[in-house]
Formats: sequence, structure tokens, C-alpha cells
Amino acid sequence: MIIVMKREASQENIQRVVRVLEEYRLQAHLSTGKQVTIIGVIGDKSVLTDANLEVMDGVDKLVPITETYKLSNRKFNPAPSVIKVKDFTIGGGNFSIVAGPCSVEGREQILETARFLKSCGVHFLRGGTFKPRTSPYAFQGLGLEGLQYLKEAADETGMAIITEVTSLRTLEIALDHVDVFQIGARNMHSFELLKEVGKTGKPVVLKRGLSATIDEWLNAAEYIMTGGNSQVILCERGIRTFETATRNTLDISAVPVIQQKSHLPILIDPSHASGVREYVPALCRAAVSVGADGIMVEVHPQPAKAFSDGAQSLNFEQFESLLNVLKPLAEICGKEL
Ligand code: PEP
Ligand code: MN
Repeated sequence: MIIVMKREASQENIQRVVRVLEEYRLQAHLSTGKQVTIIGVIGDKSVLTDANLEVMDGVDKLVPITETYKLSNRKFNPAPSVIKVKDFTIGGGNFSIVAGPCSVEGREQILETARFLKSCGVHFLRGGTFKPRTSPYAFQGLGLEGLQYLKEAADETGMAIITEVTSLRTLEIALDHVDVFQIGARNMHSFELLKEVGKTGKPVVLKRGLSATIDEWLNAAEYIMTGGNSQVILCERGIRTFETATRNTLDISAVPVIQQKSHLPILIDPSHASGVREYVPALCRAAVSVGADGIMVEVHPQPAKAFSDGAQSLNFEQFESLLNVLKPLAEICGKEL
């Protein structure tokens, strides 16, 4: 439920409502807009039957929220969220570029990539060191060693590091090495992991599950947010359909749907969505045009030699040409790149 306060409601009116909610052991989340304040209520509302909130001074109306996700719901928090990472921001008119190899393969590889991306003005470096591969025989990532290389790259370039954690154990190992955690598609339903990542207070990129509906995805975000961490960035990375021409099917309509249902920023990952490097630029242009908050794209110094996802990775030259196309497009779309 949300409590919409009247335009003329005073701070005292608002605080009195909050106190009543707290007396009933409910959580109050304040969202202060230019015109009105909205108080989101979390907890068992059935206890409120005799509280008569609707007649309290300053209260305009009570609106039930029928969706099972609340904190991630746009009704709860009408203004789009802006996520701060180091000195950078995701959301709020920025078109953010997250780039880097699928896997951290060695010190030189990640440092070379970080230096190149930094020279292009990219702020967010991605790279997996715990790889959730389809086959157990495929490269599983460098683990802690890879995290140390990422940290070195961050220290040298000032970039923010995004890396995937796949379990409670890998979350613990990664905790002091990264700026943003990534929860991959395969773990979107790992609720214990979501709860733990929600307790860290660090921003989280939450990828959409392979076959997850938007409702399930937002409920997964809710798991992170109930731990007290509201810094969630959604990432649409393609869903499984009957189509086999691409690795997955990019659900571009997820962007306006999410923007209607949620205040969380949303990125597009054209690399995992298509699985084919040649298709990546077109999908990136679609991401800008549809109003996404950024992209996560795989870039590798030598894609042909990549340990994972080489076929969908751009080389440096291809990435630079892509940026040259995206910059003017972002400007037309009113985004800062
Ligand atoms: C990745 O980002 O390298 C990855 C494994 O992505 P996804 O979870 O979307 O498959
Ligand atoms: Mn990958």
C-alpha cells in the first residue's frame, strides 16, 4: 500500500503518519517528490484496520499495491532511481557503457582491455572470474587471482569493476575486490544469494533469468532490496524462445515495460542476447533508441582467442567504431554518453 500525502501536507503531518505505521510495526518508505510525498508501507497491512489513516491530517488517499514487488515498484517510488558507483552514475539521463571481456583470462589481457576502454571514456569494466559455464569442462574462471587483476586494473585506471558472483562462497571472496556485483541469468532465481547480496550495500547488476518473466525479474530485485540495498540495476540479456538464429531473443520491449513498472535503471546486454558479434552494433543502437540506461557489451583484445564468448565479443577497433555511432545517437535521444 502507498499513502499519498496532500500537496499542502506538512512535515509534521508526514512524520505523524510514519509514527503510526511504526507503532503497528510496519516499515515506512518515504518518497519525496516535487509536488507530493508518498509513503510506501511494507508489512502486514491487516493490522491497520482501526488506525484510520485516511482521516489523518495531510493524508490524501491510500492506494493498495497489488503487485508482489513493492520496493522495486514505480508506484512506491515514482522518480527513476539513479545509482552511484565511485564517481559515476547509472540512470538519470546517462547512457552508461559497461564493457570488458566475458572472462578475466590473465593480468595482461585485463590490463590491456582496461587501458583501452579508459582511453575511450568508458567508466565501467566488466570481467568474470567465477564463470557459470553450461559445461563443467569449459573454462570456469580464474577465481581470486582474476579478482586481483581486476582490482589492479581499477586502481590504475580509476574504473569501476563489475563482476559476477555465483554463490555465497564466491560473494564472500569477491566482497572487497569489486564495486558492483553481477547476478547472472542462471542465478536470478537463487534467492539466498540475492538476499546476501542485498546485505552488502554495494550496487548489483541483476540480469534477467533465461526464461524469467518481467514479474519474476522484479521479484528477484525485490529480494535484493528487502535486505536494505536499493542500488539495483536491471540488465536485459535476451530470453529463451523458439528462435535459433540468435543465442537468445533480445526482449527490447522489456525496457518500456520495466520503466512503467519500476523505477530501477535498465541496461541492455546485446552480446549475450545475440551471441553474434555482427549483430551487436544494431542492438546497441536499439538500446539507445528505446531509452535504456546503458549497455553491457563484451570486448576482447583478440576475440578469436577468447576463453569464453569470443563469437559475440567485439575487438577494440569494432568497439571504437560502435562508440562513434552511439555518441550522436545518444545525444539525439537526450542521453549523456
Ligand atoms: C556474462 O555476463 O558473462 C554472463 C554469463 O551473462 P548471463 O548471465 O547473462 O548469461
Ligand atoms: Mn559472456
